[in-house]
Amino acid sequence: MQINEALIRDVVTQVLSEVGHGGPVAGRSFAGRHGIFEDVDEAVAAARDAFEQLSRRGMEDRKKIIDVIRRISIDQCVELGTMEMEETKIGRLDHKIEKLKTLGEMTPGVEFMKSEVFSGDRGLAVIEHAPFGVIGVITPVTHSLPTITGNAIGMIAAGNTLVVNPHPSGKRVAAEGVSRFNRGIYQEVGIDNLICLMAEPTLETAAGIFGHRDIALICVTGGPAVARAALNSGKRAIVAGPGNPPVVVDESADLDNAARCIIQGGGYDNNLLCIGEKEVFVVDEVFDRMMQAMEQAGAVRLNAREIVELTRNAITQVGDDRHDAAHPDFIGQDPTVLARAAGRSVAPSVELLFGETDDSNPFVPVEQMMPFVPFVRCRNVDEAIEKARHFEHGFRHTAIIHSHNVKNMTKMGKIMDTTLFVKNGPCMAALGLGGEGYISFSIAGPTGEGVTTPLTFTRERRCSMIDDLWILGKPAN
Ligand code: NAD
Repeated sequence: MQINEALIRDVVTQVLSEVGHGGPVAGRSFAGRHGIFEDVDEAVAAARDAFEQLSRRGMEDRKKIIDVIRRISIDQCVELGTMEMEETKIGRLDHKIEKLKTLGEMTPGVEFMKSEVFSGDRGLAVIEHAPFGVIGVITPVTHSLPTITGNAIGMIAAGNTLVVNPHPSGKRVAAEGVSRFNRGIYQEVGIDNLICLMAEPTLETAAGIFGHRDIALICVTGGPAVARAALNSGKRAIVAGPGNPPVVVDESADLDNAARCIIQGGGYDNNLLCIGEKEVFVVDEVFDRMMQAMEQAGAVRLNAREIVELTRNAITQVGDDRHDAAHPDFIGQDPTVLARAAGRSVAPSVELLFGETDDSNPFVPVEQMMPFVPFVRCRNVDEAIEKARHFEHGFRHTAIIHSHNVKNMTKMGKIMDTTLFVKNGPCMAALGLGGEGYISFSIAGPTGEGVTTPLTFTRERRCSMIDDLWILGKPAN
């Protein structure tokens, strides 16, 4: 008797979809697509199938998969970083390249997958960390492929697979990177589509991912709108939301070090980092010296007239309430572009512009994501910390202090209550770049997971052995 396999598959798919155990595309093979999809149901089905294959493999294979992602991210950082720069047209080429290399080298992998054990009179309980399944992922334009790279390493280390809705303005480099990752992984371990990506991402495809019954968890990295959408999705969500990191400089600070750090962090990738220094509150006693230190360290100071001009051009009003926001034409642009808008010219080697403003200037409350940082004169450290608290907007993301006064550091740390609090370093020191700790480009403030690691993307499972296997304890009967 001849068996019509296609017919059987169709009937099974139909039955499964009717009884609710599979989508309309269940049962189809997506091998060879290398993660690129236009239909949400297909992407989720492919990622689900890849998850089931990955579940049958051991830790050794997860490590091999992650090593492929690391290798591509490091070896091809120049080509992929250049693509990201050409497509998004924001940030700095050298930093686009460096971000891919750094995430490839340093993102925590399977070595973070540790179990906990309780042993005692009544036996043994082992707590292990299991994958969720398929994770729905949203990534920002500020780091399109780097966020996917970091998320993929962490999520796959934990045994999950991904469906990514990238920012539309970074979709091509996202697709190129994902396709390269999947091809490399397929060659290495024979599984395709561990990372699936919507080639034409829209708000509808994002909503389709959020609402899909086979998406077990959501992880979004972006601004306020996507943070709200994820929290309203009805699914468990890990939300890496916006920031507006303030810096406080008190009278005890090493001003030269503070200046170098603010330029390094605030100028990085033209101030696109969510952790990047966005506004500085300096006590009056050292304000003028701090401004000189900034100039000595290579930043260029704009005068009051130039700041008015820059503000007029680079800040715009949006929404029904016409609130201030960064003008898209200036986000992530070079200091030369901002300087021109302020009516002067600066050398291409300049990394950061700065100047004195009061706190009514929109550059203070707005997450400007461009390399001009306002400096506000404060009567004393208490006023500086209070302004820092106010203009961080309760995001509880990142705050920085330059000080050698432990009381001031402690006071600010308590009042800010931020996920990251850096003392005497640039913002990136909090991610292990010039400080202790580890890196991720998804820092989950609103939902509390902090700097994400593979363990962030796991469910706890407990396995209990009653009255046996505590080999240190009671003598065996
Ligand atoms: P964005 O909010 O404009 O977009 C982020 C992503 O969300 C994009 O993929 C976008 O298409 C999507 N999106 C936007 N609204 C949505 C909605 N209603 N439903 C579903 N998806 C939606 O942000 P951006 O300009 O791409 O990135 C910069 C922002 O991201 C900044 O606010 C920055 O602080 C934040 N960010 C945070 C972290 C972190 O770790 N906390 C890291 C990087 C960037």
